[in-house]
Amino acid sequence: MALLHWHGAFSFGFLLYICCRKRLNRRPRLRGTPFLFYMGIIVSLLNHKGGVGKTTSAINIGAGLVELGKKVLLIDLDPQANLTISLGIPRQKFSIYESMRGEAELTPYTHKPNLDVVTSSLDLSGAEMELINEAGREFILRELLGQVSDDYDYILIDCPPSLGLLTLNALTSSRFVLIPLQTEFLAVQGLAKIKQVIDKVKFRLNKQVDMIGVVATMFDNRRVLNRDVVDIIHKYFGDKVFKTYIRDNVALAEAPAQRKDIFDYNPKSPGAQDYLELSREFLARVEGISTPTAPKEQEV
Ligand code: ATP
Ligand code: MG
Repeated sequence: MALLHWHGAFSFGFLLYICCRKRLNRRPRLRGTPFLFYMGIIVSLLNHKGGVGKTTSAINIGAGLVELGKKVLLIDLDPQANLTISLGIPRQKFSIYESMRGEAELTPYTHKPNLDVVTSSLDLSGAEMELINEAGREFILRELLGQVSDDYDYILIDCPPSLGLLTLNALTSSRFVLIPLQTEFLAVQGLAKIKQVIDKVKFRLNKQVDMIGVVATMFDNRRVLNRDVVDIIHKYFGDKVFKTYIRDNVALAEAPAQRKDIFDYNPKSPGAQDYLELSREFLARVEGISTPTAPKEQEV
């Protein structure tokens, strides 16, 4: 009898060990999080300027992270629902709108293995007004993500081109903010505003949030203007600028029309190469923050 008990306890212990090891191997642990408390790392793609590559980057960094072995959830937080439409996801019964109104739990749709999406719909455009009197209205998304974050390595939020309540919800939920910047005239206009909003959120609502970096999009090396803008971005953001630029590449504009990410549409295109490289650089940055670097060995 005692032997049976020991056998049961041993099997349970062994199973627990296997589960924990699996998690430890899979998840980077952010500095400051308790030892066994693993959560998907939440990142907002933010720029209140329209058409700078937020949605394209959310989809293709997400898909790039999947190529690199991660499990990813994309949140379409834009009432235009461009991310949802670009991946060809049909209208869901419960989109982010119903969840934010408290009518349903977050209901991720599996787009392909390891890539889930919480869809959006035009109804979301009314959400900012509807939630205006809701207590804790800046924390609704954070609460919702808390229910699913343990199921993913990374959660990417595609923000709308505004700095309203939806964007505020994204920022209070996020550990990191990634800013896509189109290398065009006026690209840097309004950047001070983004910095200001992130600083305010950090001060008042979410001490954890940090900018992970700025990515130059639609870059064409032949254009003097593009190169000048990149120089300005470097002066403004220093080493926060990702070394990988996303080149202007027609395949990136075509992929949404085929309802595909760039890796499924044309994995050999410059767009796929750039987003894979950016995903690698992104991972290295996040994991550099996640795990303390080992002290350098003394050179002899
Ligand atoms: P919005 O603010 O309206 O949500 P956005 O910032 O999400 O816009 P996208 O929708 O990603 O921007 O991109 C705007 C347009 O530019 C889209 O038609 C997209 O296909 C195209 N595009 C994005 N990145 C590239 C690129 N590197 N090369 C060519 N076209 C691109
Ligand atoms: Mg968009």
